[in-house]
Amino acid sequence: MTIGFIGLGIMGRPMVKNLIKAGYQLVVYDKFAGFDDLVALGACGASSNKEAASKSDVVITMLPNSPHVKEAVLGAGGIVEGISAGKIVVDMSSIAPAVSQEVGEALKAKGVAFLDAPVSGGEPKAIDGTLAIMVGGDQQTFDTVKPILEKMGSSVVLVGDIGAGNVTKLANQIVVALNIAAVSEAFVLAAKAGVEPAKVFDAIKGGLAGSTVMNAKVPMILGGNFKPGFRIELHIKDLQNALDTGHNLNVPLPLTANIMETLQSLKVDGLAASDHSAIVRYYEKLAGIEVRS
Ligand code: NAD
Repeated sequence: MTIGFIGLGIMGRPMVKNLIKAGYQLVVYDKFAGFDDLVALGACGASSNKEAASKSDVVITMLPNSPHVKEAVLGAGGIVEGISAGKIVVDMSSIAPAVSQEVGEALKAKGVAFLDAPVSGGEPKAIDGTLAIMVGGDQQTFDTVKPILEKMGSSVVLVGDIGAGNVTKLANQIVVALNIAAVSEAFVLAAKAGVEPAKVFDAIKGGLAGSTVMNAKVPMILGGNFKPGFRIELHIKDLQNALDTGHNLNVPLPLTANIMETLQSLKVDGLAASDHSAIVRYYEKLAGIEVRS
C-alpha cells in the first residue's frame, strides 16, 4: 500500500519517519518545507498535492488549519484533482469540524472516503509513535486505515461521524488550556506566599489536582523553559475554532473566551511562538512575581 503524506512540519515529518520504519511506501509533499531527508530514507518526493494523491492509495494531510486543508484538498492542483474513486483521504490536522464535513462531502462526490483524525501529544509523541488519535468517519474506512494510524499512535479511537474527531480535539484543547491556566494561577499564589513551587508540585501532583498537564508543564515553568512544544499561536487557532463551533451550535464557552483573551495578551507581549506553558507569564505579570525553582 502506498501512502501519500502532505504537510511535513513539526508533526508530519516524524509521523512519516514512523510509517517508513513500519515498511510502507511513502509519497511526500510540502508546499514550503524541503523533504530531501525523507527521500534519503526511501520516500518518493512529489511536486504537488495532486501528484502525491495520484500516486497513493491513502493520502494523509497534516497541515496548520482549515484554509490550508481546503487549499491542499480542494484547491487548484489539489488532492481532489489527482485522486480516484475508491481511495481514502485522512486529514490529521486540527481544524474546524464544519470544514472537515465540507471536505468530506466534496470528496464523497468523487467516490473518495474521508476521515478527520486529529492528534494529541505533540512532537515527542509524534517521534515516539505514541500519539492519541481521535477519528471521525465511517467504520469501514476506519477499519481499513487503523493499522496505518497505529504506526503513529498508541491510542486510535473512532469517536463518531466525519467532524467528530475535530470536535473531540477542540474539547481536548479547551481542557488543556484551562488546566495550564489553573496550574499557573495556583503556583503564582504559592510563590508569592513564599512557599517553594517545587515543593508544592511534589505535594499535590499525586492528589486530585494532579494531571498530565501539571506533570508536563510545571517542570517547564519552574525551569523558565518556554521552548515549543505546542505554540501559543496554534492554541489560539484551536480556541478560535472552538469558539466558532460553540457559537454556531448555541453553546456559550465563557471559560474558553477568558483563556483566549489571556493568550491574545501573551501574543501582544511577543510570546506567540512560545510554548503554551508560557500562560504562566500572564499570571506572573499580574502578581509581579515569577514561579521558578
Ligand atoms: P507546522 O506548521 O510545523 O507544519 C505544517 C506544514 O504544512 C508546513 O511544513 C507547511 O509548509 C505545510 N503546508 C501548509 N500549507 C500547505 C499546502 N497547501 N500544501 C502542502 N503543504 C502545506 O505545523 P505542525 O506543528 O506540524 O502542526 C500540524 C497540525 O497538527 C496543526 O493543525 C496543529 O494544530 C496540529 N498539532 C500540532 C501539535 C504540536 O505540538 N505541534 C500537537 C498536536 C496537534
